[in-house]
Amino acid sequence: MLILDVLTQYGARALDRSFSYLYEGPKRVEPRFRVLIDFNGRPIMGFVTGIAKSDLTSAEIEEKNGYPIKKIIDVIDEEPLLTDALMDLAKQVSDYYLSPLITVLQAMLPQSLSPKLSSLHGPKIAYDTMVDLVSASESGLTPKQTEMLRLVAANHPILRKEAGSPAVLGKLVESGRVRLFRQERRRYKIPPEEREEPHEMTIEQRQAYEAILSSEKEVVLLEGVTGSGKTEVYLRLSEKVLREGKSVLMLVPEINLTPAMVEYFSRRFGNKVAILHSELTPGERYDEYRRIAKGEAPIVVGARSAVFAPLPNIGLIVLDEEHVDSYKQDNAPYYHAREVAIMRGRQEKAKIVLGSATPSLETKARAMRGVYGYAEMRHRIHDQIMPTTTIVDLTDRRNFTKDSEKISGPLLIKIKEKLDKKEQIILLINRRGYWTNIICPHCGHLFLCPSCGGNLTYHQSDNMLKCHHCGYVAPFPNRCPECGASNLMRTGYGTERVEKELNDLFPDAKVARLDSDVGKVSRNVERILREFRDGKYDILVGTQMIAKGHDFPNVTLSGVVLADIGLALPTYRAAERTFELIAQAAGRSGRSSKPGEAIIQSYNPSHYAIVYGAKQDYESFFAREMQERRAQQYPPYVYLFLLVFSSLSEEKAVASSGDFKRALLSESLATVSVVGPLPPFYLMNKGKYRRMLLIKSKKPDLLRPYLKRLVSRYGGKGGVDIAIDVDPLDY
Ligand code: ADP
Ligand code: ZN
Repeated sequence: MLILDVLTQYGARALDRSFSYLYEGPKRVEPRFRVLIDFNGRPIMGFVTGIAKSDLTSAEIEEKNGYPIKKIIDVIDEEPLLTDALMDLAKQVSDYYLSPLITVLQAMLPQSLSPKLSSLHGPKIAYDTMVDLVSASESGLTPKQTEMLRLVAANHPILRKEAGSPAVLGKLVESGRVRLFRQERRRYKIPPEEREEPHEMTIEQRQAYEAILSSEKEVVLLEGVTGSGKTEVYLRLSEKVLREGKSVLMLVPEINLTPAMVEYFSRRFGNKVAILHSELTPGERYDEYRRIAKGEAPIVVGARSAVFAPLPNIGLIVLDEEHVDSYKQDNAPYYHAREVAIMRGRQEKAKIVLGSATPSLETKARAMRGVYGYAEMRHRIHDQIMPTTTIVDLTDRRNFTKDSEKISGPLLIKIKEKLDKKEQIILLINRRGYWTNIICPHCGHLFLCPSCGGNLTYHQSDNMLKCHHCGYVAPFPNRCPECGASNLMRTGYGTERVEKELNDLFPDAKVARLDSDVGKVSRNVERILREFRDGKYDILVGTQMIAKGHDFPNVTLSGVVLADIGLALPTYRAAERTFELIAQAAGRSGRSSKPGEAIIQSYNPSHYAIVYGAKQDYESFFAREMQERRAQQYPPYVYLFLLVFSSLSEEKAVASSGDFKRALLSESLATVSVVGPLPPFYLMNKGKYRRMLLIKSKKPDLLRPYLKRLVSRYGGKGGVDIAIDVDPLDY
């Protein structure tokens, strides 16, 4: 008889411990196997963490324990899911992020291997379920259903997962508006690239390469301006590590940057490369996971979750664009791939390279203090000059012509000039939609989201009002719902309206738009980026999706239509994000032989984030922003923990957060300060009221055990849930 210690698939903090189960049978079972168990009368998935043998019968064991012990229903796996090293990493992540171990394991493993019941029902064969249009009639549909029907009508057929909510889709199928069909999946294959000989490294590249290898620090910051050739340095380092018989983990911040990086690596290293990211089907991920675990592909390229790739014997971990926020998962366990990469690198004694033109303040500060090693590249390849930038003051009416309220005179002139020369333009506006503010001038009614209080944005593409925070949608009424007035004041603008304006101003120019509305259907993103690079469009308008990473050789003008959007957001990183966005956008211009220009339009033209962003002057920005962070006591001067208390009862959320704060302060921890309880920017989430505590500490490791204890005391009690975000990026 075997006695198994089993974690249940539930991530609740109250269940963050193992339960005993018995097994007696022919199958092999070991720690790190999944087992099917009965839990409160329901079959669920369990994950074995420990095993003890016993010569007693089950009746004798029960007798001895004094309580009944159930047998497991079945053993699922035939081999352990994780190596010892990965299991150890999972525990470190769980401790650091104060997150139940099972939640970390679920984030770590591909869907088809996840310790969740649903993993057993995943598709084993490579089919996609597609949604096709049957009838576009909208009568009798709810706003949510209408929104989805319009998406299908505009793009059909689309993938089922692109359509969104399965419940809403079900209703559309039921009412005969759309139909589902299955289609053999287009498996993403790494294209068979021409093998390529490496570039001769420039002097700067060689110096950076040597500096990284010779640094005695495990973690090294590679700070290199946009276009300085960081990728070549990654490739050379990889080559060296592979030659030593070790493997390489190459991380990129976003899924849509994976193909480009995979191309670089497979041109250099052929079929040694594997990809691992969440866009793969469960089947594909399973295959890649196994291939990597067996050591058949010593290079893994992928986005955030690839940091958990079962790669054996790692010699090098690279995070390209290490400052990008999407490296942090925005739900439990809220891990940041950079932190995990460093944990993993230390465990494997691997080199960790953090690459960026605009490093996060935390990383740069650590490099300056000598915690991390440092290498830099200050020049673009072949010394192309950095783009010349101009800031246009939007508060000065003289900067506008009668032609446009959004595109200033100086920007208009430049756009014309580039169009005449057949050069390309990218225009960034980091907000989607058409009108972003709608007010009734009669009665003052604001169009706000009834479920979370956020602003409603009008979207012209499907003629709906949408809440960008919680996803609420409503048909646009054209008149005030309070007083019936029809002359609504419509102000504020996003990508759609800039696109329209450009079409009006330059009827002969071909304009494409890329934002997450267009990007709901993923083939649209690939197509638009490819067609823009091939010259099918003259102007690309979009959100930050267009600012990052892409190499468009014919772009000689980049414009930021409204640089101030991010500055107003309630987060200590508002200035850092604004700086990065502007610097990245400017960096897209003039990347090949033709010199580039950038124009930044702003209502705060003297704000340091905008001034330094336009100049891509990272060092000055860093120095100035560090002063702000010190004055306000924010990272990297302190560590943050954000606790969100949510409950159906507002009173309970308030009471619990207050109790928690008092309990924490009564521990009289010297280096801790607690801000709050604060109402969050968006009061409600999924129908629950929320209150937050922001905890600042200079000694986070001393604080963790207290937080852990208090969270298990208060979390899940009296209908209040507590979510902990360690090192939050917002607030
Ligand atoms: P970064 O990531 O630093 O912004 P990239 O790695 O994209 O820059 O490199 C910019 C361009 O320079 C790419 O087109 C790349 O192929 C080219 N390049 C890089 N290193 C060299 C080199 N040593 N010789 C010639 N071209 C290079
Ligand atoms: Zn909302």
